[in-house]
Amino acid sequence: MSGLIGLIGGMTWESSATYYRIINTSVKERLGRHHNARSLMLTVDFAEIEALQARDDWTASAGILVDAAQRLERGGAGLIMLCTNTMHVVADQIRAAVGIPFLHIVDPTAAALKRADISRVGLLGTRYTMEMDFYRGRLQTEHGFEVLVPEPSDRSRVNAIIFEELVHGMIWEESRRVYLDVIERLAARGAQAMIFGCTEIGLLLSANEVRMPVFDTTRLHAGAAVDWALGQPASSAPTGQ
Ligand code: GLU
Repeated sequence: MSGLIGLIGGMTWESSATYYRIINTSVKERLGRHHNARSLMLTVDFAEIEALQARDDWTASAGILVDAAQRLERGGAGLIMLCTNTMHVVADQIRAAVGIPFLHIVDPTAAALKRADISRVGLLGTRYTMEMDFYRGRLQTEHGFEVLVPEPSDRSRVNAIIFEELVHGMIWEESRRVYLDVIERLAARGAQAMIFGCTEIGLLLSANEVRMPVFDTTRLHAGAAVDWALGQPASSAPTGQ
């Protein structure tokens, strides 16, 4: 039996659905027959999270996500993951509040970049992810990458497309072009590869449309959870209390 993956979803449910699809299809591909992943997903209300983000109230949002993580742990999850990049701003609080491993989204991304021998990488995501230190800092300081983010006006466009379109499931050709243009400008500044550092970007652009290697955090994060789940001893059973 595979390990029970605990997912904190809803940020947004559009990309949580992608996580759910990837973990189940990957386990089926690897184990065959009628297998799928064993998982628990707790979906928070994005309206609440988004309002707290806009007010920079990271303490209140940490409270909501810590509560979600603890519920998943009590439900028997053996691993916690946060199905979003942005809210990793409170990753340390979540990690400290549970007794099971927390799978940080940057770590499988960094591992994939290292395997591909990339040292200078472009980062696309929400303005929080592109501008605050919790994400770039981890890539730069802990993993040693040079991280390029778009110029301010491009950052505004990238962020607005996420919050006004992608989180609502709206996929427009014009926005796809905007992202491709921003990627061109990062390439001209020396980016060797691109991190899709927002879990909804893969809904807008696929890796084969981009003329450099793409590291899609949704896929890498979900893939790492599958590796964890299948690496658990066959007898591992939920320890729900
Ligand atoms: N899912 C997004 C991310 O990966 C953005 C939504 C949010 O702001 O939480 O950052």
